Amino acid sequence: MNDSRYVYLDYAATTPMDPRVLETYQKAIKEYYGNSSSLHTIGQKAAKSLVESRKIVASLINGERNDIFFTSSGTESDNLAIIGVALKNKKRGNHIITSSIEHHAVEKACEYLKKIGFRITFLPVDKYGLIDPKKLEESITDKTILISIMFANNEIGTIEPIKEIGTIAKENNILFHTDAVQAFGKIPIDVNKLQIDLLSASAHKIYGPKGVGMLYIRNKGNRESGGKFIQPLMYGGGHERDLRPSTVNVPGISAFAKAVELAQEEMSNEIERLTSLRDKIINSIIENIEDSFLNGHPTKRLPNNINASIEYIEGESMVLDLDFEGIGVSTGSACSSKSLDPSHVLLAIGLKTQDAHGSLRITLGRFTTEQQVDYFLQKLPPIVQRLRKLSPLSRNKS
Ligand code: PLP
Repeated sequence: MNDSRYVYLDYAATTPMDPRVLETYQKAIKEYYGNSSSLHTIGQKAAKSLVESRKIVASLINGERNDIFFTSSGTESDNLAIIGVALKNKKRGNHIITSSIEHHAVEKACEYLKKIGFRITFLPVDKYGLIDPKKLEESITDKTILISIMFANNEIGTIEPIKEIGTIAKENNILFHTDAVQAFGKIPIDVNKLQIDLLSASAHKIYGPKGVGMLYIRNKGNRESGGKFIQPLMYGGGHERDLRPSTVNVPGISAFAKAVELAQEEMSNEIERLTSLRDKIINSIIENIEDSFLNGHPTKRLPNNINASIEYIEGESMVLDLDFEGIGVSTGSACSSKSLDPSHVLLAIGLKTQDAHGSLRITLGRFTTEQQVDYFLQKLPPIVQRLRKLSPLSRNKS
């Protein structure tokens, strides 16, 4: 099947580049090849473009332009936020609070800190994947220096109570980081209203290029008073104001800014359109496939995320059969689909191992059409039926 006919429903793993972003990217590669630290005309042209991009990216979250720091990915932003804050504040305390359903970029950064003497609380979540703000408050000690809770989950789409978390963090004078890689550009985020101190995002989840990310750091841009609570993880030149050395990827960042502009323009329409497609898929799966159920919260969820468990069969077999029909979805997190272990997120919301294995994640995006959704909904039930006939786990229904 050629790519243009393929029904791609795995937008949470990554997105295709929007042609308008690609156009910006191609132009920027030619125009902004200079090193943004160089004093000459070509370098300064790149530096000017970088200022403009910073402004655009900041505006999407109502942040200050100088509080945006560009990185290579969401993973790098998460690591910089968590390890950078932990190392800088270790004299103040060694306790960090996070959740049990974070992306590996946060989870493994915390695991690393644990090995070097930090204490990490992994908060449990309820059956929808929500953390309990009361439990968060109870786990705070006088050694707590950071709370890192994701904005929205990459597997089940659940949106966390970010406003309440921000308030608790502020009241207790603790820094609040959120991994917003899945939420950024898809739902409104205001770092001031939500009292977020650090926020990670990634370009390739919003139709931008791979290899470009950003970390928002409140007040870091203020040279006199701000940003004294984080230290770099890499050492080299003075790029990104000494926080993140290495020659800045100005063309990639230009493309990221274009992707942000488009996300801002199209967000409210897309929320409405995708929510309706999402709910059509959820309802159809639950109605037409016996012994299936939705994972994640029914309403507090990303507009583009569907995660369902289809009992008695393996998610992987469904993924492969759907691929054969020209449909791309995933089971659990794409980042860990090479592992046979059940998803830690699905286990954390209380699924049995067997049901976690039978999960299907369908994520929609800008280029998803109703026709594609209908095609998927037509192909899925017979695949399930066929696999259940073969499955030793299946009760004999026929
Ligand atoms: N955080 C979340 C919630 C994600 O979904 C991902 C990617 O899937 C990341 C972090 C890592 O982002 P990147 O691929 O840009 O490193």
